[in-house]
Amino acid sequence: MKLFRLRGGIHPEGRKTSSADAAIRALPLSPYLFVPLQQHVGAPAKPVVQVGDTVLAGQLIGAGQGNVSAPVHAPTSGRVVAIGDHPSPHPSGLSAATVTIEPDHEARWVDADLPADPFGLAPDEISERVGAAGIVGLGGATFPSSVKLKLSRRSGVDTLIINGGECEPYLTCDDRIMRERAADIVTGIRLIQFAVGARRALVGIEDNKPEALAAMRQAAAGNDVEIRMVPAMYPMGWDKQMIQVLLGREVPAEGRSADIGVLVHNVATAWAVQQTICLGRPLVSRIVTVSGGAVAAPANLEVPIGTPVQALFDACGGFHGAPARLVLGGPMMGHQLSHTSVPVVKGSSGVLALTQAEIGLTRPAPCIRCSTCVRACPVGLLPLEMAARIRSDDLAGAEAIGLKDCIACGSCSYVCPSSIPLVHYFNYAKGELMSQARSRLKQEATRKLAEERTARMQRIAREREEAAEARKAAKAAREAAAQAAAKTEVAA
Ligand code: SF4
Ligand code: SF4
Repeated sequence: MKLFRLRGGIHPEGRKTSSADAAIRALPLSPYLFVPLQQHVGAPAKPVVQVGDTVLAGQLIGAGQGNVSAPVHAPTSGRVVAIGDHPSPHPSGLSAATVTIEPDHEARWVDADLPADPFGLAPDEISERVGAAGIVGLGGATFPSSVKLKLSRRSGVDTLIINGGECEPYLTCDDRIMRERAADIVTGIRLIQFAVGARRALVGIEDNKPEALAAMRQAAAGNDVEIRMVPAMYPMGWDKQMIQVLLGREVPAEGRSADIGVLVHNVATAWAVQQTICLGRPLVSRIVTVSGGAVAAPANLEVPIGTPVQALFDACGGFHGAPARLVLGGPMMGHQLSHTSVPVVKGSSGVLALTQAEIGLTRPAPCIRCSTCVRACPVGLLPLEMAARIRSDDLAGAEAIGLKDCIACGSCSYVCPSSIPLVHYFNYAKGELMSQARSRLKQEATRKLAEERTARMQRIAREREEAAEARKAAKAAREAAAQAAAKTEVAA
């Protein structure tokens, strides 16, 4: 089948073999699981348990709030020993509200309400169950999946794309799940397709994953799910790139894929949907790649949500010497970890311990205006020009030429012969613009409050004045009436 041309993209060294060849193995439970209430895009979940409560595996411990949110569940049975701040895996490094569970090692599950026939459920019922299970985009976006399903059904998408383009170096968790759980993934794909009413379902898998391609082709045979091989390149795992290469459709800037009739989900998300609908299991664990040159025995582990990152490294034999950098996610779009007590969350696809040689830090040199970064950008931006404007403090100027469309893929930094950390400029500028917008909103809210207070005070003063006037008038009327009555008596 025809593939379409892509804009930009790079071919970083894959460094996947060390973890790709080992089968997924389950990580034993840690003494404590730290389950953050915010692991998704949207409003944080609200705790519905208390310290001292006994919980079952899969029991709701945090309820989603508002239209865009996701609930969180106990990864195993045990006791809630704390609810409060704990170091979070957020790039800011700040702590976040977390439910801490001490496992009882009995793995007692909540009763599941299983449908006799998963395909006998109404489409909306599937979306509801996916929402109640706390499923979010497991490719790293962590957008609540049920919201995407409902929006897609409403917008009438015609095509479902399942993204098997695991393009970040080192990461192999999607590769392994496709090799080992292909039949379940295909069931998940069919359930999603049914829930949104899409006419076609396509799975895009990069050509550097032949075993995953073969397993998925075998599982999809006779199921009306098309498996497509796409070229291995970065960032093929970006939804818009996958849509472009498979369908030749371009998502408008600041638009959504549903605007062009497409819904995209990750392969691991499809697997999680199957687990929920067919087995009644909410999202309480995920596959995580543990890799990097400093890790003794790289692997893919099935990890209960809330497990401290240190436990993953321990299960892989620890480090060869001290790692130069710890990363959560891939080396291109992940972020640096300052310590290993942070927990694995729903969006954690990998934890890496990199050596100094792998980081390869060199001092930046001046820009030679070679425009290699422009050719690499998958969005079609001008990284050198945006960086120049940011350096001269012209953030509005950088915004005017597309800063907000930058997906922070790091392709421009990777190819820059002068080793200019372009993506760092863009992340800094986006953060700065966001904080400026937040402070404008705050100022606006304060001004509105002050205006409302002034208006309230004026209204109260006016009402008091009017009441005093009314009392005065009533008194005058009473006095006039009394005088009139006195005169009438004298006359009588
Ligand atoms: S790749 Fe680097 S050196 Fe070349 S134009 Fe871009 S910023 Fe300048
Ligand atoms: S980081 Fe931004 S500017 Fe650089 S290549 Fe990626 S999308 Fe383009």
